[in-house]
Amino acid sequence: MGATLDALHRLQRFEMELLALRKKVEAKRRAVRGSENRLKQIDATIAAKEAQLKRDQAEADRVELDRKTREAEIARLREALNRTKTNKEYSAILTQLNTDKADAAKLEEHVLAMFGVVDEGKAAIGALSESRVKEAKRTETFVAEAARFEASVRDEIEAVEAKRRAAAAELPPSALRIFERVSEKHDGEAMAQALQVDPRREAFVCDGCHMSLTLEQINALRGRDEIQICGTCGRILFLDEPVASMKPLN
Ligand SMILES: [Zn+2]
Repeated sequence: MGATLDALHRLQRFEMELLALRKKVEAKRRAVRGSENRLKQIDATIAAKEAQLKRDQAEADRVELDRKTREAEIARLREALNRTKTNKEYSAILTQLNTDKADAAKLEEHVLAMFGVVDEGKAAIGALSESRVKEAKRTETFVAEAARFEASVRDEIEAVEAKRRAAAAELPPSALRIFERVSEKHDGEAMAQALQVDPRREAFVCDGCHMSLTLEQINALRGRDEIQICGTCGRILFLDEPVASMKPLN
């Protein structure tokens, strides 16, 4: 393997290491954002429930006031009933009194129903406030965990970045540009092995996309230290894994 392909292999390895580390950091940050979003949702629900509670409370107060007015009217009619002189007057006041009593009974029902609605609203807000406390604690935990993790991998990331820069510096600028373009397209997997599909035949496929490669490409890989690109997926091809860039066996 020539110097260019060798440097590309190292670049690939550090690129993948960096991506894996950054993905872990991003996962921790995502957990923080998820918890923050849940908090926001709970706050919005609490605000909506509080606005509704205000309206329900106002309705309950209004109906209760109506009921009291009606009760005062009933008391006034009762006194008037005692002072009546004629049967006709008595019967008219009695009719009014019965109508008012029926109205007052309906208002009483409405008041009780509204008090029930208000109590339910208060209970729901209470439960949501408890959920909010729990979620806020969770957010705190996630924030601390993300900060702790980022601090723990900061040195590692910097070290791999330095290695990546060193490998990149060994490459001709054109090779580096190709690598970076393909790496961006394939999530860091810029390189793919040319695999021989049948040991008895000179037939190779790209390990990245599993499409056939031409023999010219294989011969070029064998003979020259130059970049060969898979015609289908665009990955940079290599024949054999170099010993230096192989992952250690666990
Ligand atoms: Zn391919």
